[in-house]
Amino acid sequence: MSGKAIYWFQTDLRLHDQPILSKLHKSYDELLCIYVIPDRWFKEPFNLGFNRLGPYRKRFLYETLIDLNNSLQRLGQRLVVKAGDPSKVLSNYYREYNIDKVFTHDQYAFEELQDLEKLQMSIGKRNLIIGNTKLMVSELSLPFTLEELPFSFTSFRKKVEDVFKVDNDDMNCTSLPPALESLSGEDWPAEIVPDLNEGVSNPETAFPFKGGEYEALSRLKEYIWDTENILHYKSTRNGMVGVDYSSKFSPWLSNGSLSPRRVYYEIKRFEESVKSNISTYWLVFELLWRDFFQLQSLKFQSDFFKVNGIKHREKEWNYDQKLFEQWRSGNTGNDFIDANMIELLSTGFMSNRGRQNVASWLAHEYKIDWRWGAYWFEHCLVDHDPSSNYGNWMYISGIGNDSVADRRFNAELQAHKYDRQHRFVNLWLN
Ligand SMILES: Cc1cc2nc3c(=O)[nH]c(=O)nc-3n(C[C@H](O)[C@H](O)[C@H](O)COP(=O)(O)OP(=O)(O)OC[C@H]3O[C@@H](n4cnc5c(N)ncnc54)[C@H](O)[C@@H]3O)c2cc1C
Repeated sequence: MSGKAIYWFQTDLRLHDQPILSKLHKSYDELLCIYVIPDRWFKEPFNLGFNRLGPYRKRFLYETLIDLNNSLQRLGQRLVVKAGDPSKVLSNYYREYNIDKVFTHDQYAFEELQDLEKLQMSIGKRNLIIGNTKLMVSELSLPFTLEELPFSFTSFRKKVEDVFKVDNDDMNCTSLPPALESLSGEDWPAEIVPDLNEGVSNPETAFPFKGGEYEALSRLKEYIWDTENILHYKSTRNGMVGVDYSSKFSPWLSNGSLSPRRVYYEIKRFEESVKSNISTYWLVFELLWRDFFQLQSLKFQSDFFKVNGIKHREKEWNYDQKLFEQWRSGNTGNDFIDANMIELLSTGFMSNRGRQNVASWLAHEYKIDWRWGAYWFEHCLVDHDPSSNYGNWMYISGIGNDSVADRRFNAELQAHKYDRQHRFVNLWLN
């Protein structure tokens, strides 16, 4: 077969572990590689004065796309970047260039699933081929259907842990069909290009890395092989200061410049040739949390993003914008909460411990609609992922996958336990 194809990059911004992309050169003689920034990212659903693509996220994404474009150029290709409604942009290219098939990969969150559905409706179901690159586990190896997906993480883990399989991670893309002949060279949309100082992190950041596959694979090597920090992961993962208390893989995993399957097999290779311990196990355990939330969002669709959450639990929420401003600017008066919020504001990153505490503060102390908090995280976090972000927020706010009715964190006790020497608070408040 020969013809023209489109590869639509979404949250798989890499060339390693690309089962579909790596094979296209065998079947097509022209290819358009495209990434579309959804125009919804520039809207303000809650009218709170900020959109969904804040400065750190934007810079990280831009660096990622530059890196991907460089890699594609080495294979004689290039990345076209557009802003707009993804399904419309793709349909237009499909028709204008007489394309045979569009290839992309799986999505799990509501809006992204809608993009896929709309495109299918526009170009025909059989003309959109969707591969699997997002989860670590192979969905086919799961011992239940989506309807039977366990509600709690513990029962999910118990059911999958001994049986799940991970597809091979070795389908690297080393050859591609040339770019569409008639394609004109166009600049990337201005919305994606950060200004000189926009999104530049405070140098004290716990995430001093750049976006892109190259940095992702370097960090993977460093964390697992060079420093062997993975061997202490279980005892350091609740830390808050510095680069190495946790893997810091999340920003690359979220936009797919790092494959979860690659992380899994790198851990397995390390376990076989160096050492296996509770910490190496625990990193895989945490990656199961990631898959858990992806699958939950696939199951619950739009409920995942609604105020009553997947529990359909009605709670009285507060909509006091002044209180919300105090929280998001780090002015609650509680040092531990404020230090975390200032870290987020000045770096685009926050530890898991910090995230749990500030989410609990907003939802339980201020009783503010949890979606405002999730939305602020979406704006700020370099690792924002709809399923992980909204799933974790719901979990803490009492309307998600937690069997505990309201998981309230006591910020004083937490500070005492996790920041006993005040290193973290001093770092961000002084
Ligand atoms: C309110 C709240 C919002 C969050 N929003 C996001 C988000 O938008 N994107 C995101 O990737 N994570 C999110 N998390 C989960 C977690 O905080 C981050 O994944 C983690 O802090 C990233 O740092 P790391 O890569 O060093 O993690 P590590 O501790 O090294 O963990 C390794 C990987 O496991 C996965 N993981 C670990 N914990 C979780 C978890 N609770 N849920 C889902 N995946 C997990 C991540 O992919 C992470 O990279 C959120 C947590 C909370 C409490």
